[in-house]
Amino acid sequence: MPWNVGDVRITRVVEHVMPFTVDFFAAATPADVAAEAWLVPDFVDADGRYLMSFQTFVVEAGARRIVVDTCTGNSKDRPLIPQFDHQHRPFLKNLTAAGFAPDTIDVVVCTHLHVDHVGWNTRLVDGEWTPTFPRARYLFGAADIDYWSRSKDPLHAPAFADSVRPVIDAGLVDAVTADTALTGEVRIVRTPGHTPGHMSVWIDDRCVITGDVLHNPIQCRHPEWTARGDVDPDLARATRGGLLQAAAATDALVLGTHFAGVGAGRVSSTADGYRFTPESHD
Ligand SMILES: [Zn+2]
Repeated sequence: MPWNVGDVRITRVVEHVMPFTVDFFAAATPADVAAEAWLVPDFVDADGRYLMSFQTFVVEAGARRIVVDTCTGNSKDRPLIPQFDHQHRPFLKNLTAAGFAPDTIDVVVCTHLHVDHVGWNTRLVDGEWTPTFPRARYLFGAADIDYWSRSKDPLHAPAFADSVRPVIDAGLVDAVTADTALTGEVRIVRTPGHTPGHMSVWIDDRCVITGDVLHNPIQCRHPEWTARGDVDPDLARATRGGLLQAAAATDALVLGTHFAGVGAGRVSSTADGYRFTPESHD
């Protein structure tokens, strides 16, 4: 079931869901997670682990089809994380079955260039990493291109090599240096911290696709928690505060890039943080 935000339609296609232990947020304790019983079963499993969904949002605005984030991909050499390593998942089949064949996509936005957001940028064809969306312009944050092209990070540098570099070499990439309107309703807003060039996607002021500004709704209760992989934790914290404040002020629908279950909700401010109210749309 898609979400409808005015005339814009947003469809989620899930690649896979995976549990993460409590220490994904360094400051979190099992008691903190247990105190938020409302997180179970959509966002936390019965064993108190965060459920992390790897998923794509397809935004349809007028005739434009915009893919936001491309998960982990198939056939990639990722020895550090078994669930990302040499997978053969039916993601493209599912994307096509949802009505979005790869050659119908106009724009691909990667909120950032981490391994789990760029995977389906390419696929293996006759032994070559080939752009999956041949008609699309791929939009990447300029600061992320700069940072990750020079990184030796053992998890993310290989993803740059097989899922980002081939798309740049094919001439399909536009580097984003400023907040950018993609259509009359859809705009990219820079939200740095998790990575230097991180971006979120807003639909008017009515909906936001978070990227990794948030990984789990529990961060609404604890906006100060930083996540594993934050390049600049202080900036990430400030950015998260700003996004939550904006979402609360506008009562925007929050679509969490890694939120499992219903995947969406609205935030409201409380004395010591924010309340997240999950919202089912079917
Ligand atoms: Zn991520």
